[in-house]
Amino acid sequence: MPRAFRVFATCDIGPALDVLRKRGYQLEVYSNPQAPPKSLILEKVRSGVDGLITTLRDPIDAEVFEAGKGTLKVVSQLAVGFDNINRADANRFQVPFTNTAEVLTEATAEFAFFMLGALARKLWTAEHLTRDNQWGFWHPYLPFLGDEVTGKTIAIIGTGRIGLAMIKKCAGFDMNILCYDPAYQNHEYAKSIQEMMDLRHARGIQKEKTWIKYVSFEEALGQADFVSVHVPLLRQGDSDTPTYHLFNERTLAMMKPTAFLVNTSRGPVVDEAALAKGLRENRIAGAALDVYEKEPLPADSPLRDLALEDRCRLFPHFASAGRITRLSADPDKGMAGRCIQGLIDVLEGNYRGDPKKMPYVVNKEAF
Ligand code: NAD
Repeated sequence: MPRAFRVFATCDIGPALDVLRKRGYQLEVYSNPQAPPKSLILEKVRSGVDGLITTLRDPIDAEVFEAGKGTLKVVSQLAVGFDNINRADANRFQVPFTNTAEVLTEATAEFAFFMLGALARKLWTAEHLTRDNQWGFWHPYLPFLGDEVTGKTIAIIGTGRIGLAMIKKCAGFDMNILCYDPAYQNHEYAKSIQEMMDLRHARGIQKEKTWIKYVSFEEALGQADFVSVHVPLLRQGDSDTPTYHLFNERTLAMMKPTAFLVNTSRGPVVDEAALAKGLRENRIAGAALDVYEKEPLPADSPLRDLALEDRCRLFPHFASAGRITRLSADPDKGMAGRCIQGLIDVLEGNYRGDPKKMPYVVNKEAF
């Protein structure tokens, strides 16, 4: 290594950082658990760091790239989503940025499935009944019932990495699956899932026949008992099919009044005011959210309405928060490991120094 690279991490991403220390990097880690102010990121970048390790809490835009002009060589993001990084600005300043796709796919999908189960079978309400000593009797239907997941129909909105993993988990629960994705349709995968469903039925592992098919957005919403969202946040101008407020008053009204919405993608994909209204007016049966328009969820959010407590599950952007998924230093297992490897690839010029060939660089088009 010609010299010690200087890196500023906006967050302590765990023991994987030792990989950099052992390689002689000059590493500075922002130790406060809250996000640093943007002014501090600018100050560090201006001081000439070679690399930035970021999380989804850090706005990385032209101002940051301008501050690092000539010195900042890479932004390495600990997340698959990168809507906090302005891609056009990164490209204009020719700074590669990396993400941690794939290693969080299964953890995020399984959490989405658990959210779905918790919502439908009222796990939170049922536990409260017991803990609050309100469980006075066993009764066939009092004080409430949940809805089964097995045998129901789920719509998967966005069939990328996490959407496909969610499909696999839902197939294991004998669910029928409606798929919607305007940009990427994996018919081979759907065919394999159908073959697996047919085999399970033929061998008596599942009683009812189940199916999977790609349909339109309207069909998916209109027919599903559960809708699970796995899209990136794409604002107007980012894409021909933006996802900002994809779920709004109009589209929520397309769902069955008995259906449940699960969102582990990004908060602004759902119009929260419209969702709270829909829940209050019983236009849909319930929602489980891991992500919000503003994070952390504000104290005055309409989603906190006590009247919605039994049908609105709220989680703290937690879907990828598995121990191995978040912390493993192995780039094939953990977000931290992949984040570090992405940074090393760029700074140490792996792949002959060609960002286009580096597996974790997102904005390959800029090079
Ligand atoms: P991916 O890029 O593999 O898949 C996203 C899919 O969404 C793509 O196939 C794309 O074609 C599709 N899509 C784009 N616009 C769409 C639209 N308008 N309607 C339907 N589909 C559309 O990404 P991934 O790895 O599956 O991750 C998906 C998103 O999940 C990430 O961008 C991130 O924001 C979020 N995420 C959240 C957590 C969490 O902790 N809650 C964890 C991981 C990922």
